[in-house]
Amino acid sequence: MKIYDTKSRELQQVGTTQGVMNMYCCGPTVYRDAHVGNLRTFLLSDLIARIAILEGMKVNAVQNITDVGHMSDDFVEHDKMLQQATLEKVDPFEIARKYEERFHADLARLNIIPANQYPRASESIELMQDLIQKLIDSGFAYVGEDSSVYFEAQKFSSYGAISGNKLDSLKPGHRYEYHNDGAKRFHADWALWKSAGERTEMVWESPWGTGFPGWHIECSAMSLDLLAGHVDVHVGGIDLRFPHHENERAQSNAVIGKEAVDLWVHGEHLLFEGRKMSKSSGNVVLVEDLLSKGIDPLALRLCFLENRYRSQMDLTWNSLQAADETLKRWRTKMSEWGTSSEATSDQEIADALSNDIDTPRAILRLREIEKSNLEDKRGLFLYADQVLGLDLGRPIIARELTPQMKKLLDERIKARSEKRWADSDELRVQLENLGLQIKDTAEGQSWS
Ligand code: AMP
Ligand code: ZN
Repeated sequence: MKIYDTKSRELQQVGTTQGVMNMYCCGPTVYRDAHVGNLRTFLLSDLIARIAILEGMKVNAVQNITDVGHMSDDFVEHDKMLQQATLEKVDPFEIARKYEERFHADLARLNIIPANQYPRASESIELMQDLIQKLIDSGFAYVGEDSSVYFEAQKFSSYGAISGNKLDSLKPGHRYEYHNDGAKRFHADWALWKSAGERTEMVWESPWGTGFPGWHIECSAMSLDLLAGHVDVHVGGIDLRFPHHENERAQSNAVIGKEAVDLWVHGEHLLFEGRKMSKSSGNVVLVEDLLSKGIDPLALRLCFLENRYRSQMDLTWNSLQAADETLKRWRTKMSEWGTSSEATSDQEIADALSNDIDTPRAILRLREIEKSNLEDKRGLFLYADQVLGLDLGRPIIARELTPQMKKLLDERIKARSEKRWADSDELRVQLENLGLQIKDTAEGQSWS
C-alpha cells in the first residue's frame, strides 16, 4: 500500500516494524462529542488498518485520549477539559469519561475497528515526565523562570519539515502557539510541562513543581512507549500538521536521535453545507443527529468513502439521504444475489485501495459490478466491504404491509391531496411508529 506522506510530499510505501505495521492516530479531546468532521479523520486510520489487513499485514494501532492539557485557541489559555467541567458543573474526570465512552460508541456506529490501545493522557503523566527529563538532560529543553519546562525550538535543526513552517519565517506574535509566553527564551518555544499557577484541578507533582503536561508531549510519549519506539504510519487531521505534529516530531526525534515516524498522513477537513463546522456557525453535526433523522450512520461512512481523503469535502443532508438509499439498495440486491459469505477478490478494487486509499474508485467499481452481468456480484461486494465496512452483507428482512399500514398509507395520500398537512404529519408519525419510512417526492408518497 502506498500513501501520500506530508513530509516528503510523495507517495510512500507503508512499512512494518518487525512484521507489524505500527500506527498512531491522534485521538479526541474528550470535552465534547466528536462531530462528523472528527469522525472523518478517525475513519482514515480504520481504512489504513483494513487495507493493511487485506494485504496480509499485522497491525498494531494506538490512539490517544486527550483528557488534560489541550488548551483552547482563544486569547487566554484555558484547558478545554476544565472549561467544560465548569460549564457542566462536574468533575473534569467525569467529563472525560463521559465523552470518552460516547467517542467509542460513535466509532462502533461507523464500523471503525477499535485500536489496540487507547492510552489516556492523565494516566501517562510519568511517561511524559520521563521524556521531558530526557529532553532537559540532552539540552533540548529548559526550565523557565515560571517553573514551566519549554522545548527550545532552535535546537532542533529540521523544525518545520512537515508543514514548511520554518522557524525564521515564524514571526513573534504570530498566532501559532499559546500567548502566555513570558518565560520562553524564543517565541517559537513551546511548553512541555506547565506550572500549575492558580490551577488546582488536574495537576500533578513533578521535579519542576506542581503542574500539568502540554498537549504535544503526550503524543511523543505514548507513541514511543507503546509502539516500540517507531511509528510506521502517523495519522491526524490536516489542522494538526502545525504546530502539533511539528512539535511532536521535534520532541520524539530529539529523544531517540533519528526519525521516529516514517509516514505522516493527514486527512483533509470536512465542511457541512458549504461551511466550516463550528459551534459559532451553529452547524456542528453529530452521529446522534443522523440517527434522529432515521439515517443509517453507515451512510455517513459511504459519503466519506465517495470522497478522496486528501480533498476537502462538503457533506450535505442530501448526500447523506442519497447514501442511505444506496446502502438500502445494495443490501437488498445482496440478499437477492444469494447467501454465500465467500469473498471474491477483484484486482481493480485492490489496486484502487492500495493506491493512496482511492475509495471513490473502489465505489465506482462496485457501481459497475452492480450493473454488470458478472457471475459473483455478491462475492465481489463482500471483498470490497472488508475495507469499505458498510455491512453490505446485512440481510434485508422483507415484511408484508399489514392491512392497518395500507389503510394509513391511503389516508395519508388523501390527506395530502386535500392539503390537510397537519393530518398528513400525524399519519406519518403513526406509520413511522409501525416501522415504515415515509418519503414525499415529486411523484408522490413513497415508503420502505
Ligand atoms: P480534537 O478532538 O479537536 O482534538 O480533534 C480530533 C481530530 O479531528 C483531529 O485529528 C483533528 O485534526 C480532526 N478534525 C477536527 N475538525 C475536523 C474537520 N472539520 N474535518 C475533519 N477532521 C477534523
Ligand atoms: Zn497527537
